[in-house]
Amino acid sequence: MKVPYLSFTRMNDQVREGLQEAFMSVLDSHRYILGAQVERFEGRYAAFSGTAHCVGTSNGLDALCLCLKALGVSEGDEVVVPSNTYIATVLAVTRVGASPVFAEPDERTYNLDPEQLEGALTTNTKAVIPVHLYGQACAMDRIMQVAGRRGIPVVEDNAQAQGATFNARPTGSWGRINATSFYPTKNLGALGDAGAVTTDDAALAALAATLRNYGADTKYHNRYTGYNMRLDELQAAFLSVKLERLEAWNRERQSIAARYGEGLKGVGDLCLPETQAGASHVYHIYQVRTTFRDALVEYLAQKGIGTAVHYPVPPHLQEAYASLGFRKGDFPIAETLADTCLSLPIWPGMTEADTAAVIDSVRSFFTFNHTSK
Ligand SMILES: *Cc1c(COP(=O)(O)O)cnc(C)c1O
Repeated sequence: MKVPYLSFTRMNDQVREGLQEAFMSVLDSHRYILGAQVERFEGRYAAFSGTAHCVGTSNGLDALCLCLKALGVSEGDEVVVPSNTYIATVLAVTRVGASPVFAEPDERTYNLDPEQLEGALTTNTKAVIPVHLYGQACAMDRIMQVAGRRGIPVVEDNAQAQGATFNARPTGSWGRINATSFYPTKNLGALGDAGAVTTDDAALAALAATLRNYGADTKYHNRYTGYNMRLDELQAAFLSVKLERLEAWNRERQSIAARYGEGLKGVGDLCLPETQAGASHVYHIYQVRTTFRDALVEYLAQKGIGTAVHYPVPPHLQEAYASLGFRKGDFPIAETLADTCLSLPIWPGMTEADTAAVIDSVRSFFTFNHTSK
């Protein structure tokens, strides 16, 4: 039985008609940029996130840049980011001219460790970006405390955790201004690139909205040297259709994760994801760890089971950031994670038979190949 790492087939089947209607409605509206669909989706996504405002954007990286720009982060400033995030978090920091300062994650949740964060703050720190990695909410109460004591704004990178909560409060509503991505594979995915900024602060929302549209608050009157970072009407219309299913799809991800948790407990040297007190996990990614990662990947591939690695190279060791001067050994937790992490298939529409096939293959790998190191 083949199980792809990711399949859109069953998800798309559930929304096919809605997406077709959305397409026809945008086509016939003759309004393709910044119209009623974007406004409607922004209202719905703000409500979903528990924030007063949402500003649709071209993608998640641009949303992060807009957050930093709106806060006035620029050259000479430092922004603390986790050492084990997807590179986009760091690219946003360097794109506004600021310097990334890496803080190591908690070894069990893989999310920014509030104590490491505290140690990374300096008088130059202008923002902190916790990332709700793999779909689990960060320890937002402690992160807000640590940053708040010094008056440093928090910008959540909520690209992987739409629908997650910490202490029952949605991710994307804790920080002063927050970013998310609707890249097609995210829990809420568009049919192309898309993203959003969420905030309770009306002035920051207005500034982000102005910056995303050439810096003009009135057409042809440019207050700032802005950007074109707009969300398309078409993508907004698709996202409104898919947003209605997001909670059900997240519950599906959670039940697949629960089956993995039962079926893989105590198998070989596998570390399974752990959810911390107060946090919910919407399993954008089901990430396990094993020192036999590369052999397991190959074995599963032979059995027809797709996997992925998120992420094989931490940002501080990427060629693009060679100029920052980091070396192997500088962030050992992030480096160990990169060497041992493996993502198993998890997508809405996966059947019990799919999940069972993954579990059986992983178990047989450890039974017949690697019971101990
Ligand atoms: C996907 C992702 C982004 C970037 O989103 P894009 O829409 O692809 O630009 C940023 N941060 C994290 C953690 C992501 O997973």
